Amino acid sequence: MKTLLTTLACLLFSVAALAQKAAPSQVLFTNVNIFDGKSDKLVTGRDVLVEDNLIKQIGRNIEAAEGATVIDGGGRTLLPGFIEAHAHMMLMGPSLPAMEGNTTWEDFAIHGTRMAEMYLMQGFTTVRDAGGGNGGLRRAIDSGQILGPRYYPSAAFIGTRGGHADFANFTAPPGSETNFSRLNMAQEADNVADVQKYGRNNFRMGATQLKYMQSGGVVSAFDPWQLLAGSPEEIKAAVQVANEYGSYVMAHSYRKEAIMTALNAGVKSIEHGFSFDCEIADLMEKKGAFITTNLTAFDPGLLDIPAVKNVPASLAKAKSASATFANYIPNMKKCPVKRAFQTDCVGSVEACNIQIAYEKNLNNEFFGAHASLVTMTSVGGELMALSGDFMNPYREGKLGVIEEGAYADILVVDGNPLEDFSVAGTGDKWFGADPRPESPETIRIIMKDGKFYKNTLD
Ligand SMILES: [Zn+2]
Repeated sequence: MKTLLTTLACLLFSVAALAQKAAPSQVLFTNVNIFDGKSDKLVTGRDVLVEDNLIKQIGRNIEAAEGATVIDGGGRTLLPGFIEAHAHMMLMGPSLPAMEGNTTWEDFAIHGTRMAEMYLMQGFTTVRDAGGGNGGLRRAIDSGQILGPRYYPSAAFIGTRGGHADFANFTAPPGSETNFSRLNMAQEADNVADVQKYGRNNFRMGATQLKYMQSGGVVSAFDPWQLLAGSPEEIKAAVQVANEYGSYVMAHSYRKEAIMTALNAGVKSIEHGFSFDCEIADLMEKKGAFITTNLTAFDPGLLDIPAVKNVPASLAKAKSASATFANYIPNMKKCPVKRAFQTDCVGSVEACNIQIAYEKNLNNEFFGAHASLVTMTSVGGELMALSGDFMNPYREGKLGVIEEGAYADILVVDGNPLEDFSVAGTGDKWFGADPRPESPETIRIIMKDGKFYKNTLD
């Protein structure tokens, strides 16, 4: 009897504790100018009320509940947390063969953990992983064990033998087990059945969308960038599997033929898309598709990367690619489409930190501050939402916008990023740049899911 009473008392106590816990926690930002993720003008002199993990109210003279945390924005700019649409949190330097040969699951996990923290502290509250990362990193981030952004992994790259997802040693026969295949970081798929098998396995392993490798690479040693890997049937099979899960496919596509085939097969996210032109823009619009492009590909510094400069085959590829891709920026200005931000860094955490800041800088240089901000916020948010009603892990609110009901993924920065984009944490040098700070000084507040990860306004 005594035990029963104790159990009952415990039960009542925990119900009371739960009720107490359920009282919403509020944060009120006062006197901020808002970049909402879309507009080319700031909305000035507003308050933003966050309740738990969502934005509850935007207006003037908002009154918060008793006990709320109140932050005086002091006329600074409040904007959505940045969204990286194409990272590789697990892939690390110095080279692809080194990763296949000598990198263990511990190396990858430690690198991914550090990458996740770095991204968050640079102001990225969401990252989509374009291949190599499975669901474990998200579980660790979302359960609070490690620091990191919201995470949309693609699990294993899917691609053909001899393509850009083929990390096997040159002497390994087709279909060999590799370091990458054991860890489900890349899978060789040479027919429709393989694509279906590994596509479904990827969702099982925590993917929110699939990544298919059509074209080859520029920096990689073997696969030509002009490659047209995967038949239309194989790409359609990837789309079919993704659709079974209510999600979509992102395709690594360089040549116009590759991009058109992917779009016609139902691919929704064109990665790199360097041969972009107005005909592609038309088809993208018809299909509701997005493009993400690493603008460092258009930087003359690309030819100075040791992995390019020191490997004659890579250098020749890089030169021919630069010539072919020269029209990307004028075409994007002539026929703009939904373009999300991507860095595509594979290397050390410190090198990727520099590359991200430089990618921000190139966005501003080529397309201006407003387009850069839209790319890094609302377009990214729309793209993440394509993972659908079942596979999207973050379905309570919108990402990439400052709106009532959106997720409270918020930055507060000094100054006005529409006028001076450097406050977003840019770097104007790629190779030979100084190490980046752990977090840009101009980013005063980083909030994700209603929680503070940085606050220097206290
Ligand atoms: Zn990539």
